[in-house]
Amino acid sequence: MARRLDGKIAIITGSSRGIGRAIALEFAREGAKVCINYAKSEDMARQVVEEIKSLGGEALMIRADVSKLDDVKQLVKGVIDRFGRIDILVNNAAIMFRGDFLETEDEEFYRILDRMWEVNVKGVVYCCKEVVKHMVKNRYGKIINIASIAGIGTAFPGTTPYAMTKAAIVILTRRLAFELGPYGINVNAIAPGMVLTDMSTPEGVELARKRCVLGRVGSPEDIARLAVFLASDESSYITGQVIVADGGRIDYLTHSL
Ligand code: NAP
Repeated sequence: MARRLDGKIAIITGSSRGIGRAIALEFAREGAKVCINYAKSEDMARQVVEEIKSLGGEALMIRADVSKLDDVKQLVKGVIDRFGRIDILVNNAAIMFRGDFLETEDEEFYRILDRMWEVNVKGVVYCCKEVVKHMVKNRYGKIINIASIAGIGTAFPGTTPYAMTKAAIVILTRRLAFELGPYGINVNAIAPGMVLTDMSTPEGVELARKRCVLGRVGSPEDIARLAVFLASDESSYITGQVIVADGGRIDYLTHSL
């Protein structure tokens, strides 16, 4: 039976752990050849590659800090050298530091704002810029940006700088969809609610569980299955969209909290 991403070449940034790892595994199960990118977690990245190989898939791993343009250029070059083209880019790598606007000391607040802006926003721009050069030539591409519901209005206290970075990803998604559509490139975003990974906290998980109609937090696989749909040609008429996967937040659906 034909798989949904058979023969496609994909880069998933930040795929050593969490949601990125689940996306890489799901893509590989659907027949894609994937590049596992990581910044620090080399052993975990290697485990993902091994897992993909054990499924009969093909993967390579490349260390690149997405906030460094030279690293991103090397990442893209590595994938082109190995596979010859790039069909799918998932901008997943991000960091989250908490910092309350009033309570956090100024210097610390600006430090976390700058670092998150470098990784969560400029990192995505660098990856898009470098990968799109190849997609435009092929008149084909799927870009999936991992945003967050924090970027469209519902964030935890102390996450204003993080939420700002994710709001930037939402508008970047819409603008790139507009600019790249004529070249056959679809650009969409996923806005997850709370997903169980290293980024989530026990208090956040408990609160999010109570606040959604499905009564559970998301798994990385919940997001990965949506990413497969957006990466596949099943979604070929969808672009510029931000798709929320949050279990149905009660605070959005009703006043009866
Ligand atoms: P995670 O478990 O903390 O994993 C983050 C991944 O990003 C790791 O693979 C990490 O690799 C990589 N990474 C971090 N900084 C990097 C950099 N500078 N360059 C390259 N890779 C880097 O996070 P997650 O929960 O899976 O989050 C994945 C995405 O979903 C993020 O965009 C996040 O904002 C978004 N999201 C998460 C949730 C949630 O509840 N978990 C909710 C909404 C949105 P190393 O370990 O090698 O550094």
